[in-house]
Amino acid sequence: MSKVSVLSASMAAVLCLSSCAVMCAQLPEPNGGTIERGTLPARWYSEDAKCMEIPEWQVHEYNPNFFILRQSPCTDFEKPFVFLFFGKDKALLADTGSRNGNIVPAIQLTVKNWLKRNGRASIPLIVVHTHEHEDHTWGDKALQAMNDPAIPVTFVPAEVEATKKFYGIQTWPTDIGHVDLGGRIIDVIPIPGHSAASVAFYDRNTAVLLSSDSLYPGRLYVQDFAAFQASTERLIEFTKDKPVANILGNHIEETNTPYLDYPVGTMYQPNEHELALTRGTLLELEAALVSMHGVPQRLALRDFTVWPSGPKFARPGDRERFQQHVQEEKAHMWDHSAP
Ligand SMILES: [Zn+2]
Repeated sequence: MSKVSVLSASMAAVLCLSSCAVMCAQLPEPNGGTIERGTLPARWYSEDAKCMEIPEWQVHEYNPNFFILRQSPCTDFEKPFVFLFFGKDKALLADTGSRNGNIVPAIQLTVKNWLKRNGRASIPLIVVHTHEHEDHTWGDKALQAMNDPAIPVTFVPAEVEATKKFYGIQTWPTDIGHVDLGGRIIDVIPIPGHSAASVAFYDRNTAVLLSSDSLYPGRLYVQDFAAFQASTERLIEFTKDKPVANILGNHIEETNTPYLDYPVGTMYQPNEHELALTRGTLLELEAALVSMHGVPQRLALRDFTVWPSGPKFARPGDRERFQQHVQEEKAHMWDHSAP
């Protein structure tokens, strides 16, 4: 390296250090930086769900402007998470829940409590999706029909063209889109593979990455293996120069015992794996995919399982076991002290 290039390299390092407070993967000191902090609950209601006792939605305040809501297991075994961000000008809801979710009252209550706390009369709500599957879009119609003057809704359908247009994504899936809520920019990263219209969201304020159904403690159903691997690589690339406080997916299907999940269709899940994953998990997923050399296979890792989907990968008895398990779960949903 010449003297000039040594000089310019060290200047670049200094520049990076001084501009890294928000957008670097590492911080100069372990002081939390400028990331807006938040907490996750010690446990979710699904761990001790007596269905007489729990509400249709559990509302968790991560911090005053970011809420995580989880659907009750008693309404649907998928019990997905949905995410509600507030900016100065707009709020954004990622996903609308699964079957029988009845999400509107929970959203109205949460948004109105936020309005009261902030001395405001109304805020526009943008309803978007992590992807197009039914367990994330079931509440779409109800939210579109909500007609609440305090919460005017802009609705973005869960499909590729509408997603591109709304976030200003020129080339799918390699470009990054954005949405500005007022003092809060959320980056939108196309990640097809689990489904055609999957996206991840990166909230610059909290450094939380929403990873959709593409990475969570559970079964990562892969529809298009090549696309899924490429999306995982792009997420790694996207996050390499940014802090990642938590990676939050849309379900928990893994127990807190390594390599052990709950059977498909489980409602009540004592001893759940925690929701939050890290960028390390993303690197581990990538390594697992690379190890398959383009040949999809089911592979259980400590915190999640890569699970190619489709008839070719189904195992004999899968469907029957699922149906029987759902029946057993429903038989005990009102009282878990029963045998
Ligand atoms: Zn899902």
